[in-house]
Amino acid sequence: MEILQKENPILREKAQEIDLEDISSAKIKKLIADMKKILEKQENGAALAAPQVGEPLRLFIISEKISGDEKTIHTIYINPEITKLSKKTEWMEEGCLSVKGIYGKVKRSTNCNIVAYDENGKKFTRGAGGLLAQIFQHETDHLNGILFIDKAKDLQQEEK
Ligand code: ZN
Repeated sequence: MEILQKENPILREKAQEIDLEDISSAKIKKLIADMKKILEKQENGAALAAPQVGEPLRLFIISEKISGDEKTIHTIYINPEITKLSKKTEWMEEGCLSVKGIYGKVKRSTNCNIVAYDENGKKFTRGAGGLLAQIFQHETDHLNGILFIDKAKDLQQEEK
């Protein structure tokens, strides 16, 4: 399993919802386990959406490096939906594992609410600000075929 790069058409698809009864299936369990493994290997990976590993499904995971203790924050978001975005926005520095070496600024709401299912099929709601709110918006964009470079300004190539 590898992380697809920006030219790959799967990244441009609108991802499909996962049937709730499939959440406990071997296929989805394996997908989540594989995504966790690949994300934790990345130096700068905050989160990873299923389309980035070639599965156009509405699922993303957040790195435990960001979320800290799994008990205090959900790390797996299935069929997520942003239900509220603050009017207040900010240009935030952003990058993406599927757009290696390029960074830019994206205008994001500073706060948002998200509703999703966890890996046990339990529905939950979470509000977030700052980095976590930015991640929710970035990852939800992935599920809709949007990459941050579509909306970014001041794009810069990292020096090698
Ligand atoms: Zn990304």
